[in-house]
Amino acid sequence: MTLPDGYDFAVVGAGVVGLAVAAELARRKRRVVVLERHASFGEEASSRNSGVIHAGIYYREGSLKAGLCVEGNRLLYEACQQNGIPHRRCGKLIVATNETEVEFLDLLLARGERNGAEGLRYCSQSELAAYGSRLKCVQALYSPSTGIVDCHSLMEHLETLSTDRGGSFRYESSVTGIQKDPGGYRVEFMSAEGGEAHLRCEGVINCGGLHADEIAGMAGMDVEEERYSLSFDKGEYFRIAWKNTVPADVLIYRARRGYGIGVHTVIGLDGEVSLGPIGFRSKRAAGYAVDSSHGQDVFDDCIQFLPQIRQDDLIPHTAGISPRVQRPEKDFIVADERDKGFPGLINLVGMDSPALTGCLAIARHVVGLI
Ligand SMILES: Cc1cc2nc3c(=O)[nH]c(=O)nc-3n(C[C@H](O)[C@H](O)[C@H](O)COP(=O)(O)OP(=O)(O)OC[C@H]3O[C@@H](n4cnc5c(N)ncnc54)[C@H](O)[C@@H]3O)c2cc1C
Repeated sequence: MTLPDGYDFAVVGAGVVGLAVAAELARRKRRVVVLERHASFGEEASSRNSGVIHAGIYYREGSLKAGLCVEGNRLLYEACQQNGIPHRRCGKLIVATNETEVEFLDLLLARGERNGAEGLRYCSQSELAAYGSRLKCVQALYSPSTGIVDCHSLMEHLETLSTDRGGSFRYESSVTGIQKDPGGYRVEFMSAEGGEAHLRCEGVINCGGLHADEIAGMAGMDVEEERYSLSFDKGEYFRIAWKNTVPADVLIYRARRGYGIGVHTVIGLDGEVSLGPIGFRSKRAAGYAVDSSHGQDVFDDCIQFLPQIRQDDLIPHTAGISPRVQRPEKDFIVADERDKGFPGLINLVGMDSPALTGCLAIARHVVGLI
């Protein structure tokens, strides 16, 4: 099957990043088609995360993650307010349980301020005392611009925006090949009807999430040479059955150095409270089952700052998988490949956290490259 020619851009992947890019392209009057292998949008990382609108505290100054998170935070709140997308600016506490962690708070405050995270400040002892015995810490940093968003509603909004602006979506369409041809690219895929199909477009935006490295390879990029190859981390969440044991009006993270931002409280807009993600290296297709034995690690970690939780209150809940780039700086890769002989090809690789927060800023950045 050959689809009608004449797309300006094919976006591969209907996660929150692909949807935001498609909506932004359509806003700029580009003819855009989104190809997604699942039957609907957001079946992978974009619906399996903490749903946190980050403030931009943790990321290296000058990195894409820092800049796009801070800008994305502002754009996302605006979009939520203007379009009735459920969200809450609940704020976040980063708590230190000992003097070493207090030193790390100073570092986070300085870094967050340099990045432009809004309103960071230390809590007073009376503010912390208000949480009573549900919170144990010696000091805490408060981030008022951290919040939570309903990811499904956000993605639904972005899909509607794209279609209202003339964009089209092809679900159950798994991209299998991308060939350069005169004037652009021929994108091959297995269609929803089960047959091989292709379309032509001037440019391809690779928003393939866990498969972004493979998709870059399909287009002819040397994935090893470019250091696009991905590794994977799985994060598991445990719901708290008796949620009165933890403060549920604010997100709570522990101040710790090292890999990732660690296990924290996750507040759902429905009032549910979870702990997670407890993370470990995994395979690309590890599946989303939660290993109940990991509840012990979550408990051992969180009891340090949430002293009222009980181990038998932790119920295996959900899981997500993140792509990780091999490059030491661990930044987003948003690469315009024209200088490597691929005009119109943009690869987005290693779009892990905070790409949900940053999605609208990422979309503007991508369209700016075009
Ligand atoms: C446990 C966890 C917690 C997180 N918490 C947060 C958080 O609190 N805040 C935050 O900002 N970020 C968070 N993130 C990160 C955030 O969820 C992701 O960065 C974001 O969802 C990435 O979106 P995406 O569109 O790039 O990828 P995805 O949502 O994975 O979408 C990629 C899409 O590409 C499709 N695709 C792949 N290959 C093909 C193909 N060959 N043909 C067609 N389609 C294809 C896939 O089916 C998928 O739908 C978290 C991530 C995880 C895993």
